Amino acid sequence: MTAQIIDGKALSKRLREGFRERVDHLADQGVQPGLAVILVGDNPASRVYVGNKVKACEECGVRSFHIALPVDTPQAEVLATIARLNADPAVHGILIQLPLPPHIEPRAVLEAISVHKDVDGFHLYNVGGLVVGNTIFPPCTPYGVQLLLDTTGTDVAGKNVVVVGASNIVGKPMALMLLQREATVTICHARTRDLAQHTILADILIVAAGKPGLIVPQMVKEGAIVIDVGINRLPDGKIVGDVDFDGVKEKASWITPVPGGVGPMTVTMLIENTLRSAERALRMRQADDFQEWEAPTLKNG
Ligand code: NAD
Repeated sequence: MTAQIIDGKALSKRLREGFRERVDHLADQGVQPGLAVILVGDNPASRVYVGNKVKACEECGVRSFHIALPVDTPQAEVLATIARLNADPAVHGILIQLPLPPHIEPRAVLEAISVHKDVDGFHLYNVGGLVVGNTIFPPCTPYGVQLLLDTTGTDVAGKNVVVVGASNIVGKPMALMLLQREATVTICHARTRDLAQHTILADILIVAAGKPGLIVPQMVKEGAIVIDVGINRLPDGKIVGDVDFDGVKEKASWITPVPGGVGPMTVTMLIENTLRSAERALRMRQADDFQEWEAPTLKNG
């Protein structure tokens, strides 16, 4: 069997075309969706990611507010910046580019973002929403994977899904989202013994470990759907995923390439969440009986 390719670039393009109508509709109501991206320091990879997000905003008619803070910015100043953006009605989404410099506590910063503007979905309120199945903003990468899976026409209910990688931004939310859709989910991570014993049972295998060549054909069930979230730069500069694409595509029924699979979807889902936030803010403003609502304050530590 040679796998069919799940084309993230094409799906991403289609979704972005659909955004135009929503942006126009918001414009008719006097609203331009706005996304604030905060970068602390000058990590080169982070600069590229932030640049991509700002560019995607421009292409989709979303106003971007790029806030670049020096690497030694005190945490209190980052929190004050977030408080200002929380109160700014022109800003519908706020994201802080990770990783942060070591003197800044990531959870304190993530918890400071209003749950109404948490378009990355990393606030504990939205994380908790994933557990019970009604998060406001699903985290972008797993959300993109879910839509890619949908394009295969597969109903995940009852399927064996194995997620390799248990990070807070990819593996864990991915597992929760598919559990919500009634898949039987296994999460593997660096301490999992005999990874292949788990992966071989997967009808759907999602890999987000950041280890090139981790998944080889012997570890994959014939006909499985394989989603490769990994992005790794090899010494020769080539970008590859975590899956041996050439080998595994001969066993899988569907597979995502790297690049061109999950990667393009992540930024697209960020724009989706920003549009959703702007639409939500508009609905709230228009509802006569709307009472401003805030999630309870969550204390750290
Ligand atoms: P992370 O380092 O935070 O987490 C990696 C996870 O993989 C951990 O749970 C770790 O235990 C597990 N792991 C590591 N080695 C393993 C092994 N040998 N066997 C099994 N599990 C193993 O990474 P992350 O932020 O979740 O990202 C994972 C990969 O996905 C990276 O390559 C990253 O660049 C990529 N990524 C891609 C996108 C995208 O848009 N496509 C978005 C986020 C992350």
